[in-house]
Amino acid sequence: MNIEIGKFAGFCDGVKHAVEQSFYHAAKTSDTIYVDGNLIHNPQTLDLLKKSGVETLTDSEDMSILSGKTVIVRAHGVSPERREQLKSHASNIINLTCKYVSRAQGIVKKYSNNGYRIIIIGNSKHPEIIGVVGFASKDNTFVISKEEDINLLPEHSQKTLVIAQTTLEKSTFDRLVSLLQEKYNTKDIRVKNTICNATEIRQKEVVDIANRNDVVLIIGGFESSNTKNLYKIASSIKPSFYIEFKEDLEKIDLSIYNNIGIMAGASTPDWVIKEIANEIESKYSI
Ligand code: SF4
Repeated sequence: MNIEIGKFAGFCDGVKHAVEQSFYHAAKTSDTIYVDGNLIHNPQTLDLLKKSGVETLTDSEDMSILSGKTVIVRAHGVSPERREQLKSHASNIINLTCKYVSRAQGIVKKYSNNGYRIIIIGNSKHPEIIGVVGFASKDNTFVISKEEDINLLPEHSQKTLVIAQTTLEKSTFDRLVSLLQEKYNTKDIRVKNTICNATEIRQKEVVDIANRNDVVLIIGGFESSNTKNLYKIASSIKPSFYIEFKEDLEKIDLSIYNNIGIMAGASTPDWVIKEIANEIESKYSI
């Protein structure tokens, strides 16, 4: 049995920066630091952060808890409105918004201010998209994720900007963009591909890994959009399993496969990938 781990499996630059900076700031103070929402979609890292004094501010929490404290804006970013709320309660804000998300926010703000309708292809409930939508005019901004959503959009054509959630599957973006170009006057549509580099690289690599191996293990948090997309791509090519912890290996049987490919989402730490690879080696006596 052989194991191949993707070269780009694991942390992207945006997540790496957010995690390192959070530990760095936590080490500088004995006071609790809050993150507005989970810093990353990885339960193991969240546990370590908690032990270092970095707590998650959940949606249901009273924001007065931030009084006199530092709050971190995670890589997903926040809307201007949310930022103002955080500012009015916390004494300090550390902005760890990923540069790719900041770019999408800036593009949306510019085009919305210039009177464009904004169409975002992504998950309307995802924190990144909630934040990006906040940079546009509310009554002329739409989030779509599937073909049927296009029927719910206004019928009349007008100048429109189309962008993507940074972690969207490229084929979904391309497919929905062409449908939008069919629905509206093509000359009205400006398309900005805001899928981040890290996502595109990982999506390409998972295709190669799936083609070269008999089975693919995708490692990452079950809440992680980019990990879910990797699993979707891999499972369309080869038998695939989506696992979060090494204990999840108990539920699957890899003994029938010779070549195992491993890929991990952009929020999966290296040590989790290694731990799972080691566990496979010892379980199957490689
Ligand atoms: S997946 Fe892309 S957009 Fe998200 S944090 Fe990583 S680099 Fe930034």
